[in-house]
Order: sequence, then C-alpha cells, then structure tokens
Amino acid sequence: MSDAPALSVVVPAYDEAAVLPAFAARLRPVLDGLAAGGRLDGYEVLVVDDGSRDDTPLVLARLRRQWPQLRVVRLRTNSGHQAALSAGLRRARGREGVLTMDADLQDPPEVLPDVLAAAATAEVVYAVRGDRSVDTALKRGTASAFYRLVRRLGLGAPAQAGDFRWLSRAALDVVLQLPEQHRVLRLVVPALGFEAATVAYVRAARGAGRTKYPVHRMLALSLDAITGSSTAPLRLATLFGLGGAAVTFLLLLYALVSFLFGSTVPGWTSTVAVVAGVGTLQLLCLGVLGEYVGRLYVQAQGRPAYLVASDSADDPP
Ligand code: UDP
Ligand code: MG
Repeated sequence: MSDAPALSVVVPAYDEAAVLPAFAARLRPVLDGLAAGGRLDGYEVLVVDDGSRDDTPLVLARLRRQWPQLRVVRLRTNSGHQAALSAGLRRARGREGVLTMDADLQDPPEVLPDVLAAAATAEVVYAVRGDRSVDTALKRGTASAFYRLVRRLGLGAPAQAGDFRWLSRAALDVVLQLPEQHRVLRLVVPALGFEAATVAYVRAARGAGRTKYPVHRMLALSLDAITGSSTAPLRLATLFGLGGAAVTFLLLLYALVSFLFGSTVPGWTSTVAVVAGVGTLQLLCLGVLGEYVGRLYVQAQGRPAYLVASDSADDPP
C-alpha cells in the first residue's frame, strides 16, 4: 500500500446491484480521462458495500476484474448511509483528497472535473443540487424544510448540499480525529469552518433500483443531524415553560375575578384542555431530552458505527 493514489472516490452502496454496472461505466471514463490528461495522479474508487443482501458483492467482484482501481470494502451488517460513508473515509488512501458520492447516478460523475477544478483553491467542495425537479414533491418539501430548520439553528450548512462532496486530505484528517462515532457528515463538515467552494449540478433521477431512504429513515437522519449538532431543541422546554407560566398567570386572574363575582362555572372543558395541553408539552419535552440522553448513551457504549468484513485492498495480488 505504498504508492497511494491522489484521489479516493468513496461510494456507499446498499442493494445497488441494478445500478452499479451503469455507475461504473459512467464514472470510469471520467476518472481515466482526468488521469490520462495528467490532472489526476492516480485514483481509487472505494465502494463501501453496506451489508447488501442482493447481488451487489457479485457485481462488484465482476467489475473489479476489469477495473483494477475499484476497491470494495464490505461491512458486516447494514449500518446505514452515514456509517458507510464514515467507513469509506476512514479507509480511503487518497493523498490529496476524497470525493464522496452516491452509487445510484443521482450525483452525475460528469461533474467531477468541475469539482476537482474548484478543489485546487479550497479545502472542501460542496456539489450543490441546483435543480432537483426529478425528486418527488415529498422529498423536495422535506429537504427544504430540513435546510431551513438547520439555517434557523445557526448550523451554517450550505442549502441543498448532500453528501456529494470533496474533502482535502487535511480536512479529512480533522474529521477523522473527531471522537464522534455516529456523525452526520453534512452538518459536521460545515461546522469545522474549512475554506469551501460550491459547484452546482442538476440532480438526476435514480439510474435503477429503489430509494433506500423511506420517510422514516429521512426523519431519523434529520433527528440525528440536528441533535448531533445543536442543543437548541433542549431550550424548547424552557421556552414552553415560560409560555406556560404566562398562560397560567392569565388563567389565575380569570379564575379569581370569576370567583369574586360569584359566577364560578363547572369549568370542565377548560380543565380538560389545560391538563391535556400541559401533558402533551411535558411529553414533548421529555422526548427531546430523551433524544439527547439516547445519544449520550450510544456514545458512552462506544460501539463502532460499522464493522468491516473485508477490504479488497487486503487481498493477495
Ligand atoms: N445507502 C447505504 N446504506 C443505507 C442506505 C443507503 O449505503 O443503509 C446508500 C445508497 O446505496 C446510495 C446512497 O446511500 O448510494 C443514497 O441512498 P439513496 O439513493 O437510496 O437515497 P436518496 O437519494 O433516495 O435520498
Ligand atoms: Mg439516491
């Protein structure tokens, strides 16, 4: 493993057998072209097979026979997109930098030359989805709500930048030094304040196969991202408490006045409303607390976010 390539392209893949041949067919000419033109001093494409249950391992093994720069790291279990990315970043050998992209051709390989050109003067390059009209309305709506919320919380992540991103070796080493195991990179990286550039691209439709991000996984990712990078939601409880105190004060006034005028009505409705409202708020605040306690617990356990089963770079030649 002496002569490391200049660039590692890290590609998490979970059950992507249907799209991987097309992905390789489009990515390889771009990278080979850059290498032949002298703009790239060697590369590796590190596909992290995130415990796929379909033919992904077979397809990758077949592709590897014709494409020596293809490297396959297989995880023992399906550990999730972010963990697969972390595994790839940890093992990437790129001397100059690492590019991460999806396997499903939604991140077009043809953008790579632009990204690498921008990389000449930056530590991080975000490829930003300028046009995502191919995504479903639900996906676009939830994504834009997520980025608005992230903005609000003062987490300076560039809008519409997913995990299609280039990191310089220096920036990558900083990210890898963070003790966090379960990191959501798209908020962690901007928070480190590297000199950044952006390159716009048009989000393509999935090449083949199905999305691995149903709504509940998107929600889980958003929750992880926000509780992993901000304690602002914890303050919600305090805010609710203050609001509740104001309402209570007004209610007390009202009750006293009613009492003085002798018109004390049974008041069943208002009692139920107050009890139910306060109960809901308390549950919500407990839930928010629970999110953070859960994160502390998981980090305290210190279990790795992924376990590597094999790495084709360790195979005998
Ligand atoms: N992915 C993964 N592990 C998972 C889920 C997804 O490695 O548990 C990969 C997937 O193969 C793809 C990328 O993460 O390369 C993005 O997933 P997907 O395209 O399904 O998400 P979407 O683009 O629909 O948000
Ligand atoms: Mg996709």
